[in-house]
Amino acid sequence: MKRPVTRQLKKKAPSGDKAFEKKILRKELEMFNRIIEGMRDELSYVDLLKLTVTCVCKGLGYDRAGLFLVEPDRKNIARAIGMDAKGRFEVGYDHLDPLSDKKGFSTFSDLVKGHRKYFYTSNLLKLFPDAAGVDQGVTCNANVPIRVGKKKIIGVLAVDNLFTQRHLTRKDISSLVNFATQAGMAIETILLHEQVRQLSITDHLTRVYNRRHFEKYLEDEIARSRRYKRSCSLLYLDIDHFKQVNDRHGHPVGDEVLKYLALFLRADLRNIDLVARMGGDEFAAILPESPSLGAFVVAQRLNQKIAEEYPPVEALARDRERVTLSIGVATFPENADSALTLIKRADESLYEAKTAGRNRVGPFIKK
Ligand code: GH3
Ligand code: MG
Repeated sequence: MKRPVTRQLKKKAPSGDKAFEKKILRKELEMFNRIIEGMRDELSYVDLLKLTVTCVCKGLGYDRAGLFLVEPDRKNIARAIGMDAKGRFEVGYDHLDPLSDKKGFSTFSDLVKGHRKYFYTSNLLKLFPDAAGVDQGVTCNANVPIRVGKKKIIGVLAVDNLFTQRHLTRKDISSLVNFATQAGMAIETILLHEQVRQLSITDHLTRVYNRRHFEKYLEDEIARSRRYKRSCSLLYLDIDHFKQVNDRHGHPVGDEVLKYLALFLRADLRNIDLVARMGGDEFAAILPESPSLGAFVVAQRLNQKIAEEYPPVEALARDRERVTLSIGVATFPENADSALTLIKRADESLYEAKTAGRNRVGPFIKK
């Protein structure tokens, strides 16, 4: 692959362009403010990325823009989001090649690895007939690194003028470099924020949601079910005689069993079902849009399946020990009219399953 040629920014801007420069600066500031506002509004990570490409296209005035964020080891593009001329978002870009440490491998690699400070051309076709986008007619494009501080590069901001064919100049580059640096700080901050938030709602041992998140989510889900007149079921699951696992094999083996159960539940249930560890050996699953009949089918399936499996835990495999569950079921609005009563009914159903001999699904407790 031929190496992209970067134009050097040696010439100074002609002084007659002061008004134009001011205009660009004002636009940049306006766009930075938009992003800061987005952060203040606690936008999610993905929404902030969308806002950023929107600012580049609509605010700074490019036909298309894409953000390509790299994995921490900078070997692959981890996330990509773009906006086309009609204002539609494109997410994914599965076809992207891994990045290389080799200089000159690709513009993206060179920018991310710090071999190059920027790239722009108004004649892509002539420079790189094989470059991505040339087949669609891209000829004016620019790529700049997304920086966090001086040393860290987290990705590439790419723009092109596929439709207007407006030529790119060094003013575009300095504006894009400035913008990408500001956006980089915002992206990194919100990413850290999201990671902290994720930690605060995750059970540290099993990596499923914790009780706090469960309670908040259930309240929201019940409100949604009430509004749309839908059912929502709740399963309460508790391992039978779990103390014996700890006593016989020790606490670390007990921990392995808890992790196994969390994985088992996550693998078996639907993506829209929420699994949480309520504490100790007790788990809960919220099944949105599930009436009681469906919830009982799910609970029976889980109960049978787990009793037939040999957990992949060495200490248990030696004696071919298995794990059984007792499961309580309750459904909004069939036998509960609020999140609180739903929890109460599921707990009562679980209690009945335990007292009736364990390893079973509890009854449907009447209102
Ligand atoms: P039952 O059939 O009545 O549920 O009996 P059980 O022995 O499972 O009793 P229970 O559910 O009341 O006990 C839960 C046990 O889980 C008590 C505690 O020692 C253990 N436990 C709680 N948290 C953890 C943990 O994080 N790791 C491990 N290994 N054990 C835990
Ligand atoms: Mg138990």
